[in-house]
Amino acid sequence: MNDSEIRAKAQELIQRFGIKKLPVDPFSIAGNLNISVRPKPCNQEGGIAGALLRSGNDFGILYATNIPNIGYQKFTVAHEIGHFVLDGHMAHLRLSDGDIHYSTPGFYGDKYEREANYFAACLLMPDPLFTQAMSANDDGMESIKNLAGKCETSLTATAIRYIEETESMSAVVVSEKDKILYSLFSKEMSELKKVKRPAKDMPLPAGSLTYEINQSADSLGERFGDINMLDWFDNGFDVEGKEEVVRLGNYEKTLTLLTFYSDYAEILEDERMVSSWEPRFGR
Ligand SMILES: [Zn+2]
Repeated sequence: MNDSEIRAKAQELIQRFGIKKLPVDPFSIAGNLNISVRPKPCNQEGGIAGALLRSGNDFGILYATNIPNIGYQKFTVAHEIGHFVLDGHMAHLRLSDGDIHYSTPGFYGDKYEREANYFAACLLMPDPLFTQAMSANDDGMESIKNLAGKCETSLTATAIRYIEETESMSAVVVSEKDKILYSLFSKEMSELKKVKRPAKDMPLPAGSLTYEINQSADSLGERFGDINMLDWFDNGFDVEGKEEVVRLGNYEKTLTLLTFYSDYAEILEDERMVSSWEPRFGR
């Protein structure tokens, strides 16, 4: 399924169950779908976030409680609901009577795990509730934190929805040590066709705040500073902005938000002005 189909599935549940305010409660959504939800006994399967199981024609969700974080638990439950409602998932998991499917945390894994994670983000941060809450904030990391608080979601999951909806020219980068794990561009940023989104395993720009923080022993640091787009992107434009960096406690990863103080139309207009003033040789 593509992203907009997954978003529509989440939207359908939000409407069907008349959810009109944040935070969304995936426990009650599961209940409405006749799926029983229970905490997973502590002694099983260390690194597992959650599981979907079948007994006869009944389905159940187990969620891990070893990480005592309600946001993490809600995300896990929403992820398992995703397997239940997304096209092709139950067929792929092929759960027979007595079977169990284990899910792992994080935004990695196979196609089905990624789809279920994206579904969970859309279910817990649905439109238009999310965009309405977002419009109350200025662009930047404060907005992501504020939304994460309102939706009871992790900073990373919230940043992924933020970058999808923001009208600002911005990018989210998740990194570890000196390497980029993944990056996402806002719609406005994607309009700059010649600026390429950094791929997995690309080096972080040496000298960037993110690079500095990743090298330091300070594991829970949080910093921000002024940047130019050219500091981060070779094919970028001469545009001012800010870099905001938060260390993501448990996983030694870092979340960076780059926000640029311009928009696509303005940049194109500047480029047109410059080229109209350039001397034309050979005429
Ligand atoms: Zn899963």
